[in-house]
Amino acid sequence: MRARRRAASVEGVVQGVGFRPFVARLATELGLRGWVRNEGRAVAIEVEGPEPALDAFARRLVEGAPPAARIERVRWSVVAQPAERDVAADFGGAAGGFVIAPSVTGEGLALTIPADLATCAACRAEVDDPSARRFAYPFTNCTACGPRFTIVEALPYDRARTTMAAFPRCEACRREHDDPADRRFHAQPIACPACGPALRLCDARGAALATRDDALGQAVEALRRGAIVALKGLGGWQLLCDAGDEAIVARLRARKRRPHQAFAVLVAHLDGARAIARLDADEEAALASPAAPIVLVRARAPHVARHAAPRLAPNVAPDNARVGVMLPTTPLHHLVAARFGGPLVCTSGNHHDEPIATGDAEALARLGAIADVFLGHDRAIARRVDDALVHVVDHVTRTLRLGRGLAPLGIGLPSADPEARLLCLGGHLKSAPAALVGREAVLWPHVGDLDTLAARDAFERALGELRDFLRLEPTGYVCDAHPDYASTLFAEGGALPITRVQHHHAHVAACLAEHGLDEALGFAWDGVGMGDDGAAWGGEALYVDPEGARRVAHLHPFPLPGGDAAAREPRRALAGALVAAGLPAELQSELVPPALIRLARVPRLAPPTTSAGRLFDAVAALAGVCGSATHEGQAPIALEAAAGGFGSCAAPYEFRLEGPVMDWRPALRAMVAERHDVLRVAARFHATLVAMIVAVAERERPSAVVLTGGCFQNATLAAAALDALRERGHHVLLPARVPPNDGGLALGQAWVAARRAR
Ligand SMILES: [Zn+2]
Ligand SMILES: [Zn+2]
Repeated sequence: MRARRRAASVEGVVQGVGFRPFVARLATELGLRGWVRNEGRAVAIEVEGPEPALDAFARRLVEGAPPAARIERVRWSVVAQPAERDVAADFGGAAGGFVIAPSVTGEGLALTIPADLATCAACRAEVDDPSARRFAYPFTNCTACGPRFTIVEALPYDRARTTMAAFPRCEACRREHDDPADRRFHAQPIACPACGPALRLCDARGAALATRDDALGQAVEALRRGAIVALKGLGGWQLLCDAGDEAIVARLRARKRRPHQAFAVLVAHLDGARAIARLDADEEAALASPAAPIVLVRARAPHVARHAAPRLAPNVAPDNARVGVMLPTTPLHHLVAARFGGPLVCTSGNHHDEPIATGDAEALARLGAIADVFLGHDRAIARRVDDALVHVVDHVTRTLRLGRGLAPLGIGLPSADPEARLLCLGGHLKSAPAALVGREAVLWPHVGDLDTLAARDAFERALGELRDFLRLEPTGYVCDAHPDYASTLFAEGGALPITRVQHHHAHVAACLAEHGLDEALGFAWDGVGMGDDGAAWGGEALYVDPEGARRVAHLHPFPLPGGDAAAREPRRALAGALVAAGLPAELQSELVPPALIRLARVPRLAPPTTSAGRLFDAVAALAGVCGSATHEGQAPIALEAAAGGFGSCAAPYEFRLEGPVMDWRPALRAMVAERHDVLRVAARFHATLVAMIVAVAERERPSAVVLTGGCFQNATLAAAALDALRERGHHVLLPARVPPNDGGLALGQAWVAARRAR
């Protein structure tokens, strides 16, 4: 039979997930010749052989792809090539064979950096098998799983350019790596107890206590005794303790100086997650996905937790209807969680407001006063990456923090200027930079709030990595319009031209970029961002298209006594809202301290805001669920918890839509009247916001509606608004892979700047 030759381009999540070895195995099995290689973001394949074998190859390429791969598109073409030429030989392969050819990459190399992948089922089974060579080995991995982004020091992705370079492979590992039939064929971080990294346990002063399996056993014993254990994770050190013991959790809160914000919880398996949370199928899929993110799910109340099931201490996620749960990322996490048995608090290894520690000495220095023992190892962390945080709204997993397993995120910007080379610096809180290289943007992982020197150092390091990986010589910076953001000041300290993009414009643009859309009416609701008029915006509806942004509607403004200080004290927002609503003076003074009311009346000391986040604060303070906050977002989270997933059954309060103004003041007066019914106020307030969004959308009838900004991290608000808009026939988009909060700003800045560059 005459041989035919076909070429394919495969797009989707196909790099760093064991796809090329899989292709090579499949082709070899079917007796086909040819090659496979990474080309930009796609995998290119050429195969040659008899027609029936080529057909079987095409079918099994899609059906049998590795679990972590996600094929979005396969484009086939027939190659007119003299059949006598041996294609594998072109790449130094054996005659008649199939080879993995060198990657073809130019600029935009970071687009091919694979994300870290949680331990696959096969490796987990091996770690649990007493007869296996890798029994209880914490660094077991294969082509379908293991560390990637957090060990890569340079590209292309090869062991020699990772922190695994320090561990020469043993003979057994080398054989597995070179054998096309083995599931570790071409696994770059392949390791075993004979040749790979090893555990070590030390005390808070760095004195060695144990190594290898003894280290693991003693660390688990320490957790059982109530100790706080620092553990070297993939993208940084983490802090672990028993999540079922209130006193131990309280000790961690005190030492970490994190009095209230919820902790994430690590469980050994899905059953462990089901015991502490009510999960639907989408949430279970998110938990078990190769990214293994923290998934925000509905917590079971402690008293209704299954009989004899381990329960969570109430101070793990106080005043919160949801709890962040994750499954083990690495065999190390798997072993610790499984041997401990119950749920463990698993939070980033840092002091409040500082970046997560990555180095061993750094961990001892910074976490020595928090952790009792340190379970580390001798493989270095190449780059700091926090755990990713997601939730599920409308059956779609949506990123709230772009971290390990999901970062970096490449997004094609189809109509962007092909010559653009820009570094986009994001905002100030939840900072994360992005780069624009022609028609591609790359969003780098979450860095954090830029309030501390350590955080600003981490931000500059992230920018350096972004440039190195992309081999990018930027021709300009893109930053927020706010003059005082650390990211803005960084841009102003450089010598490159600066493009400034208004905060909420960037929020809406980020969602458009993700969904490949050109225009939409975007509701960008968040805490505070500087508006075109210099005022503190945050409850805006902007019509965004390639030409720019037009402010279609906004919440009625109200004074914010003390400006930024109001973010930590919801009573201030309430004072401003009461003054704006013109409630009787004696009633105002009954609800908030008179000094705050007086302050709210002085325009110079109480700048006006249209912020939806601050309106949430005001209502939370009115309902008595949160008078003062230790972190931004605490009051809205408490209010969402009080509303209790009301769906669409609560009746909205009265409001007015007059020109551009969404006037909530009638609603506030009604809420004051029934403020003692907390559930009712919380539920009806959510319904009122949804009704205002619908009213604006109905008036404008745009081709698409975008819901974004930090307020839409509130799953109750997001789901209810989505349903109500869809019911009226609107095309509604929420961010999914890009965070709706300021973590997605840099991508929106890239989208806007690319349009301007043209
Ligand atoms: Zn594996
Ligand atoms: Zn080995």
